[in-house]
Amino acid sequence: MSRLGEGLPLETGVPGVFLSPPGFERVIGLLRTGVAALAADEPFHRLVIPPVISRKTIERAGYVAAFPNLLGTVHGYGGTPSGWARLKPLVEEGGEWYAQQQIGDLVLLPAACYPVYATLADSALAEPAKVTVEASCFRQEATSEPGRLRSFRMLELVTVATEEHCLKWRAARLEQVEGWFQELGLDVSVEVADDPFFGPGRKLYQAAQRLQELKWELKVPVADGQVQAVASANYHKEHFGETFGITAGGELAHTSCVAFGLERLALALINRHGADSRQWPESVLAAFGGADA
Ligand code: AMP
Ligand code: ZN
Repeated sequence: MSRLGEGLPLETGVPGVFLSPPGFERVIGLLRTGVAALAADEPFHRLVIPPVISRKTIERAGYVAAFPNLLGTVHGYGGTPSGWARLKPLVEEGGEWYAQQQIGDLVLLPAACYPVYATLADSALAEPAKVTVEASCFRQEATSEPGRLRSFRMLELVTVATEEHCLKWRAARLEQVEGWFQELGLDVSVEVADDPFFGPGRKLYQAAQRLQELKWELKVPVADGQVQAVASANYHKEHFGETFGITAGGELAHTSCVAFGLERLALALINRHGADSRQWPESVLAAFGGADA
């Protein structure tokens, strides 16, 4: 195999950051086609999302308070040219050249759906908003077992609407995605889950999340002895509707999203069927909507 790789992600020397060679991207492409086929039954608005988001938005959304350990912030040099003359030698010396870096107005995007809620801020929806988004996301994960990346791509189906719509929509999508994973030959289990809240009160938040079944995860083996969530189906109640001033049908809007981790799903499929998707069984390839590998 060439140094540049073929089917499996290439290590970069930093944990949780990989390069993606052509064979791996073919699998990611199949997944995009497959999710688009799943979503073809509703008129989704498709948005491509950049890997950064307004810091204020992410503060407002509650992410900083709940997951400060996972958030990647973006800093830049805010000093003077003469100040830099003093710091510059530190780069070569391995010193703290970054001592005067200042936080900016952007942070790294931690999940693909946040920009959707922010974009709908202060609006009154007459119909459910339905959006698909894909973005490179960043989370400063503390560990780097197989499937746990720091930079990864997330593909989401999102809806912003009434409570009734969001609950029904999520239940139907969860069932649909479970069935799809089975068609893909994946050994899937569906479990109530919680988010990794940080700091005081985290146990309480997690228990409340589980009790209200706000988060379901679809778990599959991604490597030998390693089972991970490859997708989640989330219901946020009126959290984002309230935060961003969105109404639906005259009430505060509710939101639901189904999030696919593209690298994790690709790893799970490769773990099950092999690194060369062109050799996968016909029935599996057909489950992507008949697309060629
Ligand atoms: P979450 O918002 O945590 O439910 O994440 C949605 C999906 O993104 C998960 O089900 C995973 O498939 C994927 N994901 C989340 N965190 C990571 C990570 N650290 N590395 C790779 N994929 C991830
Ligand atoms: Zn989401």
